[in-house]
Amino acid sequence: MFRLPAAMQVFYKKHIDYITENATNPDKRRYAVAGEAERHFIDLDVYGDSVFYFLPPSWPKAVERVGEDSLRKHGIVPWHIQLAAFQLTEAFKMRDLTRVLRLSAELGHYIADAHVPLHTTSNYNGQKTRQTGIHGFWESRLPELFAEQYEFWEGPAVYQENIMLAAWQAVRESSEARDSVLSFEKILTGTFASDKKYSYELRNNVLTRSYSREFSEQYHAMLAGQVERRMRASIRMTGDIWYTCWINAGQPDLASLTEIKPQATPEKEEETSWIRRLLHIRPEADD
Ligand SMILES: [Zn+2]
Repeated sequence: MFRLPAAMQVFYKKHIDYITENATNPDKRRYAVAGEAERHFIDLDVYGDSVFYFLPPSWPKAVERVGEDSLRKHGIVPWHIQLAAFQLTEAFKMRDLTRVLRLSAELGHYIADAHVPLHTTSNYNGQKTRQTGIHGFWESRLPELFAEQYEFWEGPAVYQENIMLAAWQAVRESSEARDSVLSFEKILTGTFASDKKYSYELRNNVLTRSYSREFSEQYHAMLAGQVERRMRASIRMTGDIWYTCWINAGQPDLASLTEIKPQATPEKEEETSWIRRLLHIRPEADD
């Protein structure tokens, strides 16, 4: 928000609490809403070593090559960011206050997920390499311990010519960081007595096992700023894409946004029609 031009910033700051609270909504409905879970990740490793040559960055071409079921099974975050950005642009054009706020919050969520290295692999929680628990370690425990020292200012938002490529750049960088995330934990574990790796503390009256402070500090040092870099990159991209959507919508005066009554159509149907419009699919083309 703080990177946005004044014409946007006043509006966003006014609604900072709403956006903060609703940014976690996509995770809350992960297991409740069909089609939600796959928006948060992409298992790049299942596509082999030449994944970035193999996977077309555009959704229709990817569907043609891989098939939609298979794509969804292995995660669609870089494509979903494109869809969410398209939806946000449309919401700006329609001057729909509720949609702009909801979609801004959710787009930020998907962008942030795309920046987490373990959101780009089927070994997302180290379960295949006996490192179970590493997911929350990297994305929750480390920031909880160390993010106060991070520097987050990234300068003013920058217009992105190509949202599709920006989304792919994010997952590509995440996948490049993945090896260090897993291998450093393994190396460090080898140097730690097993009773020193974890500590036990009471959380809500439940004895919870977590990575010890000492282990966390050494792992964080080995990563040499990686968590901070990924957080900064996700902050940068979120601001850039919000800004880009607003520009692409013709820079509407955000003070003029109003609450538009939700349409009678259920959310799912509405979503389908957005996807249709994005992909230029006519209704009759659907079986
Ligand atoms: Zn998520």
